[in-house]
Amino acid sequence: MVQVRKIGVRPYPEENESYAGYLLRLAKLNGFEGLKDFFGTIGVKPTMVKSVGRWSSDQLFDCFTKLSPYMNRSPETLFSGFAKYFSMPWVYREKRIIQDLRLNHPRICPECIAEGRSFDWRWGMAHMSHCPHHYCQLVESCPGCEKPLDWKRELITGCSCGYKHQTSKPENHTEVSELEQKAWQSDLPTDELDSICEMIVKLSRPYDSFHQSCNAVSQEHGYSELVHRSYLMLENTGMQEEWIGSVEMVRDGLSDLGNKAVRLPVDGLSRIARNDSHASTYAPMPEYTLFVKPSRRNNTVIKSDEDIRYQVRASDLASVMGIPSAEIQHLIDGKVIKPVNSTNVLRDQLFDLRALLRLRTGPLNISDHVSVSPDSKALTKHLTSYGRLLADVIKNKIDGAFFEGYSFAEIRISPADLSNWLTKELNTACQEPVPAYKAKAVIGCSDQRLHVLVSEGAFYWARCSGSMESVDGDSFLRYIKYSSGY
Ligand SMILES: [Zn+2]
Ligand SMILES: [Zn+2]
Repeated sequence: MVQVRKIGVRPYPEENESYAGYLLRLAKLNGFEGLKDFFGTIGVKPTMVKSVGRWSSDQLFDCFTKLSPYMNRSPETLFSGFAKYFSMPWVYREKRIIQDLRLNHPRICPECIAEGRSFDWRWGMAHMSHCPHHYCQLVESCPGCEKPLDWKRELITGCSCGYKHQTSKPENHTEVSELEQKAWQSDLPTDELDSICEMIVKLSRPYDSFHQSCNAVSQEHGYSELVHRSYLMLENTGMQEEWIGSVEMVRDGLSDLGNKAVRLPVDGLSRIARNDSHASTYAPMPEYTLFVKPSRRNNTVIKSDEDIRYQVRASDLASVMGIPSAEIQHLIDGKVIKPVNSTNVLRDQLFDLRALLRLRTGPLNISDHVSVSPDSKALTKHLTSYGRLLADVIKNKIDGAFFEGYSFAEIRISPADLSNWLTKELNTACQEPVPAYKAKAVIGCSDQRLHVLVSEGAFYWARCSGSMESVDGDSFLRYIKYSSGY
């Protein structure tokens, strides 16, 4: 049997001590280099160090089971002090933009370290930025060499570069938001926690129009500062106005597309900020990369960080254009716009807003014109849609013009041209079976009436139309032309 060497110093966990901090304290007190070295000795895979801040309860229990003979304490006893951290429902929420609030990396309070205090579990929470004891900002990289902190034993005193943490003067302490102070004491309501996380992610890229949710926060210098500013941004209308102002400057290149396009990053915020008057200069806001998934960089045509700024989903693209989201697919099919990533699923496709600036029409040189908008009835009556007309106008297949500049939501066109185009569209659509719901919209009749018309032989059901009830295109077209007196 393998002889187990007992661990000499075996303290109990302190109040609010994190399990990772406790394990590191055990390692340090017993002369190990750090967690890796310690784990190697007790039989936990050294690679487990990487995720130590985000272990499952099973993983921690397994670690304590291996540690148990060295400590002469049962795994249950060792685990009991930390069990409560695994039963907090708010730590993980699938629908939140940051799903798991536990950080991937160590973060410390330099003052607690200088005073020899244990590691507080709240330092490892993504929505915290300050130490609950000292009201000072938490540190994620060494102030001496700026290297990211890791679970080495020096973490307990300073850094391997020789840097030692010291207690700072009281003036170094920043104002901590009331909301964060509330978060130290108790679980925040779901919606408050959700909005803090959303602000953290948005503020990490203050000029971007699109943000993705993430499973957990990875390491980046300045993260605590970002969290701190997120709390302030939620509460301080002055800061919100500055953000809006700086967005307007940075994204000025989109101003031809309208306010909506420029202000997408602060959409929602514009409603709570006090007013619209902004300074003529702005302080550039820091941009982080930690929430930009590597897959997004790899899968899309990105040459610089600036390209990321203008990426939007189809729904935002449609809202900037002032047209229904469903029309975007017609613009893609018509090769007028192209997603920047390679997926065919519209929901996951991203577009570059700047591409809209290339979509222009010449002026319409006629005085007699009609206006077509996405909800024009003539489109439905001819089995077509606004997106198809928009695509043909942009491609000069038909002579039409936007109402002005980039007003994509209204097209002016001569009545004769429109009529020809609509007839062609109807003819094309009727080369295929026509879904019953569309046929009803063309005729303007009920389901019952449609069945009567078919039984009377006005037109037929389509032979093979898949799962959807459809009418035969040929006979339907004949009926329409006959009944409208073509
Ligand atoms: Zn502290
Ligand atoms: Zn250092």
